[in-house]
Amino acid sequence: MIQDARIVAGFTGAGISTESGIPDFRSPDSPWMRHKPISFDLFLQSAEARREAWRRKFAMDDLYRGARPGLGHLGFASLVAAGRMPAVVTQNIDGLHQASGLGEDQVIELHGNGTYAKCLSCGRRHELEWVRESFEAEGEPPNCRICGGILKSATISFGQTMPEQAMRRAQKLTASCDLFLVAGSSLVVYPAAAFPAFAKDNGARLVIVNREPTPLDETADLVIHAEIGSVFSVFVP
Ligand code: NAD
Repeated sequence: MIQDARIVAGFTGAGISTESGIPDFRSPDSPWMRHKPISFDLFLQSAEARREAWRRKFAMDDLYRGARPGLGHLGFASLVAAGRMPAVVTQNIDGLHQASGLGEDQVIELHGNGTYAKCLSCGRRHELEWVRESFEAEGEPPNCRICGGILKSATISFGQTMPEQAMRRAQKLTASCDLFLVAGSSLVVYPAAAFPAFAKDNGARLVIVNREPTPLDETADLVIHAEIGSVFSVFVP
């Protein structure tokens, strides 16, 4: 199917990073489920919620520091390098597609990026190291150095608007592809999970590689219930 395709769209979820040591969202013992998520509204309204969000963020960073791209990330990077895949649409926030060698124009992050912070007012990027030092010294997260606005990890929280540019790029790629290749997503988080269904409705073939069944398995042209590393290692030189 890849050989037959003109344009392959890649689409990944948390499952592609489990082999790198980062647990996914819904598997048993997921650390992401341990706490009630802090919604975007609550983050804006409450200084205590912001302190708690940063405490959780730094605790998670300590657990997964040093995670490296796995065979799945490297397999997608090879497909991109071979000119088959213009970009990978990802729900992940861990930056591992970039770490596998993909450029910013080759990764479309639907849920943002947890490797830096952003000002909610002016959008300026701030490095986490500085935010953490300041938080640990003052007991309060710092405000934006430029405009004094609230800083937040550059991820998309529950209730936060989806990033416009990433959504537009993902729509364009989905509409233009003739093969849509999913790896490591339960396909239950919307609007992200709408992209594979849209690709299929638009005439593309749909392939899903995931350990567990997904709601789109019945409509897919090929479903592989297996470990991502074992499937994608064939693409890694
Ligand atoms: P999910 O946790 O809902 O689903 C992951 C799927 O991957 C599961 O169905 C699981 O069976 C499968 N899986 C896990 N490891 C696998 C492996 N080695 N081989 C094959 N299949 C495997 O993840 P989702 O669909 O991406 O939605 C969760 C949300 O949580 C997303 O919004 C994402 O942003 C966020 N999240 C991101 C990260 C990350 O950046 N690494 C981690 C956790 C959660």
